[in-house]
Amino acid sequence: MTLVFAQTRVVGGRVEGLPVSGRITSPFGAVGDARLKDGTVLHTTGHTGVDIGAPLGTEVKAPAAGRVVDTFSLAIPSAAPWIADWKRIYGNSVIVEHAGAYYTLYAHLSALKVREGQAVVAGDVLGLVGSTGLSTGPHLHWGVGGPGNRYVQRDKGLLDALTLIGTPAKEPAKPKEDSMAAQQGQYVVKAGDTFDSLLVRFAHIDPLDLVAWNGWTDTPVLKAGDVVWTAKPPAGSSSGSSPEAPKSAPPANDKVAELEELVDELAEDFLRISAKVQRLRIKAAAL
Ligand SMILES: [Zn+2]
Repeated sequence: MTLVFAQTRVVGGRVEGLPVSGRITSPFGAVGDARLKDGTVLHTTGHTGVDIGAPLGTEVKAPAAGRVVDTFSLAIPSAAPWIADWKRIYGNSVIVEHAGAYYTLYAHLSALKVREGQAVVAGDVLGLVGSTGLSTGPHLHWGVGGPGNRYVQRDKGLLDALTLIGTPAKEPAKPKEDSMAAQQGQYVVKAGDTFDSLLVRFAHIDPLDLVAWNGWTDTPVLKAGDVVWTAKPPAGSSSGSSPEAPKSAPPANDKVAELEELVDELAEDFLRISAKVQRLRIKAAAL
């Protein structure tokens, strides 16, 4: 499976949901747009992550399930020169490994809230926003390394976190009363709703259409207030444009890339078949 931050959204230039809410102060790949007080230009060869400005102490949350494989703490002296160098740049930082061996880096933290080896689920607090290491002010540096790139190194393949987020929202989902709901063709998720209960509620709709209209790449986890398309979104709507596996992901080698593609295809087939089975069950129950 490829890595997808299903619960994170960008709304009006702000990252909402996970890992922190805030304004993007420096996008992935930015060149020389950040300087230290002494004039030193950061990112001379392209910014290796996404910077999100947020107040000191804001909780940084895991955007997807994984395992903490490294924590770097300024409070703990390190003998290894590379670790000292790492901490000079990234300050207090955390690396999480995700399914498919993708890695995410959370840097410049003021405090760490996880231990190495700890399993995390989406939403778990990894640390607090800070300005440790090479930093111009409180922000989260969010880096993503492709398969095998544990330390999120430039030469081993970096990804732009914002290409991996879930369905971009046109506007924030508002937790409103059902009667307020939604424009034509939308449904506001209520507490207790699940993907299965939606399939029952909208039994007249082909589940594959629901999946396509909402850009789901996996069984969605629905929260009260989420807006679900129950009709084809109008042209120009950003809904349904779920991110595909990033084309830029540099595979370790061609064989791995081939296998990854195959796995993605199988996952897609699985989703289609489960939806069909679900639909048949609903029909059978109605007989
Ligand atoms: Zn940064």
